[in-house]
Amino acid sequence: MGTIPYGRQDISEDDIAAVVAVLRSDFLTQGPVVPAFEKSIADYCGVAHALAVNSATSALHIACLALGVGPGDLVWTTPVTFVASANCALYCGAAVDFVDIDPHTYNLDAVALAAKLADAKVAGRLPKVVIPVHLCGQSCDMAAIHALALEYGFGVIEDASHAIGGRYLGEPIGNCRYSDITVFSFHPVKIITTAEGGMAVTGRADLAAAMALSRSHGITREPAQMSHAPDGPWYYQQVALGFNYRMTELQAALGVSQMGRLDEFVAQRHRLARRYDTLLQALPLTLPFQREGTYSGLHLYVVRLHLADIGRTHLQVFEFLRERGIGVNVHYIPVHTQPYYRQLGFTAGQFPQSERYYAEAISLPLYSGLSFGDQDRVVAALKEALS
Ligand SMILES: *Cc1c(COP(=O)(O)O)cnc(C)c1O
Repeated sequence: MGTIPYGRQDISEDDIAAVVAVLRSDFLTQGPVVPAFEKSIADYCGVAHALAVNSATSALHIACLALGVGPGDLVWTTPVTFVASANCALYCGAAVDFVDIDPHTYNLDAVALAAKLADAKVAGRLPKVVIPVHLCGQSCDMAAIHALALEYGFGVIEDASHAIGGRYLGEPIGNCRYSDITVFSFHPVKIITTAEGGMAVTGRADLAAAMALSRSHGITREPAQMSHAPDGPWYYQQVALGFNYRMTELQAALGVSQMGRLDEFVAQRHRLARRYDTLLQALPLTLPFQREGTYSGLHLYVVRLHLADIGRTHLQVFEFLRERGIGVNVHYIPVHTQPYYRQLGFTAGQFPQSERYYAEAISLPLYSGLSFGDQDRVVAALKEALS
């Protein structure tokens, strides 16, 4: 029996055929498939503009730049996220700060955000942008965050790397009703994959145009964006300093093909999660909590150990499961406790809810291809670990 991973891609013969067809076509990059993938995501989310890039990390970077984040600015996010949600601000020369999590959803706490904003206003240190992260696929309290954005005048980037296919108040995550830009990741452990890849979506044409420039060297072929009329048909202008963050046609073909099964992937994750809910209900664990009005993308199924009731430590339970071939993981080490962030002045103890969560959290295997048999193996091992 091999190890059951915490997450893995689901690749069909149709996915493979779609990628092979691109290999036989005229374009491996900058052809028709990337725009088709962008349209597929934009239509799914009900948003006007979608920009495919080579990772969600790149999407976060160009989203910050489009919102004008630069030296002297502050960007706030949650400590319980992948480091990329914070690093994107540092790439722009801005400073990062964090808002502690809601102890039930583990998402950036909108109440803590309101309190921190009130203090920051007095101190004259309001953030330029706030990046809520939809942890495990469950939307943050976006209506409250949006109301605060209007009151205090900051931009909002939703890091929805975990959340494509999820819904908030009956509408798709990514429609940008409560934000300026939403970002998705297509890393193989996420809900759909393009191997590496990401997408930034927005309802605002100006932000889309700025991100399109940043994605490809700051170069434009649009005469309207140029400083003077083109010298000839070959002409392009570099009008900003950009990067090469483009997605390839191969990746986009995989993405288009995967989009056809997105709803099925998420539905299967929900079936498996409900099964975990039932099978684990008597154990000394806190199971995932779902707020009313949210439908999670369910990237992750995180349980919290009731350590006081268990004769083992977090590390011992983790190692026990790994030794039995259960590829559990921990999402995430609070970003402010990383050595790079400590060197910027952050210290342990600053965000107690996040640190308490980290001391107890374990991500159980969850992916659309997880069989009930393998799930039963996870449950049996966990029961043994906690007995
Ligand atoms: C995976 C992830 C990212 C980064 O995604 P990449 O596509 O690997 O760059 C950013 N934020 C969160 C919350 C993630 O889970």
